[in-house]
Amino acid sequence: MMRPDPIPSPANQFFWDALNRNELQIQQCAQCQTFLHPPRPMCPHCHSLEHNHITVDGKAVLYSWCIPRHPQIPMFEYPLITALVDLSGGVRLLSNLIECQTSELKPGMALEVCFVKTIGGKTIHQFRPLQSDAEGIHD
Ligand SMILES: [Zn+2]
Repeated sequence: MMRPDPIPSPANQFFWDALNRNELQIQQCAQCQTFLHPPRPMCPHCHSLEHNHITVDGKAVLYSWCIPRHPQIPMFEYPLITALVDLSGGVRLLSNLIECQTSELKPGMALEVCFVKTIGGKTIHQFRPLQSDAEGIHD
């Protein structure tokens, strides 16, 4: 099953371009350094129109999720886990969890970004349980 292509806007074109390079980039206000997602032309905090695009490591924790059951949308695999994930920089993204059983879901579980192809050969971001723990959590 192949996912539909994203539909970029001028404000978020950089985000989709970065994903096509297997990079997750977040918009950051160049004036007050606030991370902004979804991308937008103006910073809501200081009203600056200047921004940078910061490549992040894609490590995240699960904030919340839902599992829509009906109606099922063609091109999506079910069960579909729709999740809010918090990146380590404090940004909250809406995405999907893959490679994960619904019975495993726990608030705060460690996740990492992964990249999947769409039907048109574009790349989108998904999240999965953290597999490579370079920083090492020892108990
Ligand atoms: Zn700002």
